[in-house]
Amino acid sequence: MARNADVVIVGGGVIGLSAAWEAAERGFSACVVDPEPGHGASWVAAGMLAPVTEAGFGEESLTRLSLEASRRWPAFAERVAVAGGEDPGFQACGTVMVAADASDRAAIDHLLGYQQHLGLEATRLSASECRDLVPGLSPGLRGGALMPGDHQVDNRRLVTALLAACAAGGVRLVAQRAGAVSLHGGAVSGVVLADGSTLCAPVVLVAAGAETGRLGGLPDGVLPPVRPVKGHVVRLQGPTGAPLLDRTLRGLVHGRPCYLVPRRDGGLVVGATSEERGFDRTVQAGAVHTLLDDARTLLPGVDELELVECIAGLRPGSPDNRPWVGPASVPGLVIATGHYRNGILLAPLTAEAVAIYLTSGSVPAPLDAFPPGRALEAGDALSTARRPAEVSG
Ligand SMILES: Cc1cc2nc3c(=O)[nH]c(=O)nc-3n(C[C@H](O)[C@H](O)[C@H](O)COP(=O)(O)OP(=O)(O)OC[C@H]3O[C@@H](n4cnc5c(N)ncnc54)[C@H](O)[C@@H]3O)c2cc1C
Repeated sequence: MARNADVVIVGGGVIGLSAAWEAAERGFSACVVDPEPGHGASWVAAGMLAPVTEAGFGEESLTRLSLEASRRWPAFAERVAVAGGEDPGFQACGTVMVAADASDRAAIDHLLGYQQHLGLEATRLSASECRDLVPGLSPGLRGGALMPGDHQVDNRRLVTALLAACAAGGVRLVAQRAGAVSLHGGAVSGVVLADGSTLCAPVVLVAAGAETGRLGGLPDGVLPPVRPVKGHVVRLQGPTGAPLLDRTLRGLVHGRPCYLVPRRDGGLVVGATSEERGFDRTVQAGAVHTLLDDARTLLPGVDELELVECIAGLRPGSPDNRPWVGPASVPGLVIATGHYRNGILLAPLTAEAVAIYLTSGSVPAPLDAFPPGRALEAGDALSTARRPAEVSG
């Protein structure tokens, strides 16, 4: 059958679009299949690039991966901007974390001790040092920590910029759902689209986020066990010229994690819940109430901002919180999913690894340690238990 592309990518979120663009940059003809490119978790996310604040107990390999990804970000953002002519909104702003009460302070100190033990850049701050860095903070807070290397990107500008870069690089976009991967002689031959037509390609990259497991056509157990982890986010808007914050603010409020991520245009992203509710994307009043209440506990000026959006999305979770990147057991099938709470951060590294795999047949380090079909490691399996200072993005 005539080949439609060298590689068909199922899913046009941050992972699929970055991989498609990097593949096209290396001379592959790439085709992205997605009915709503850029509007999955990648649209809902806050865009924190936070290898240090996200470092969880027992997740050392993921932390090393995240640090490596973080180092890629400035150059990646620059390349995407040049390729498509759209600024992805990367900001090297740093992060302050604060505690609402004494037990939040103890939890942050515990986490800080672990981060410093790993050699990560994180410093303890008194309450007044926190207020010097973030002038609008609530007076009753108990101090916190500074993570100067945890930055952010405007994830909505990012997917827009990636779409522009893909278009400029000749990536074809098919606005349909892929129903199944098609096989011929036991190897991948393309994908079957929702309208019944087929796209033929010797390689199919599955980057369908939380919905990866719903793709048909493959024997049981070939696709990794991705599960949806729901997250609510609230978007607020203030005046452009006088932002409430000039860096990311994260906090623990009576044990609950909360973050406020400022955008250059005066926007503020407040997040996020972490809920196991299957494929439910409904926005619930209680979640919105809690997020706003916690945000104003940290930064009372939030009360004056305009409430512009409440939204919920599905993180692609994995049993050990780590992504799967690389070839699957069916020849021609490549997987890039399970990026859970760090998919925006990990996108440049994942895309580069996929493109190198397409060129060389090998997944480069450090992502070679995250293959599809791997067994859970004891250390990482432990990390799925609730941690003392759960600060998920
Ligand atoms: C509330 C929240 C906050 C977050 N905050 C952060 C953060 O601050 N920093 C960070 O790094 N990460 C964050 N994340 C995680 C991050 O958003 C995800 O890890 C990342 O977006 C995953 O990207 P993806 O491309 O794999 O999935 P998605 O962005 O979900 O994209 C998957 C795409 O696949 C498409 N698709 C699915 N099935 C099919 C099919 N059969 N055929 C065709 N297309 C299909 C969908 O339409 C979708 O566009 C957050 C997530 C949430 C929900």
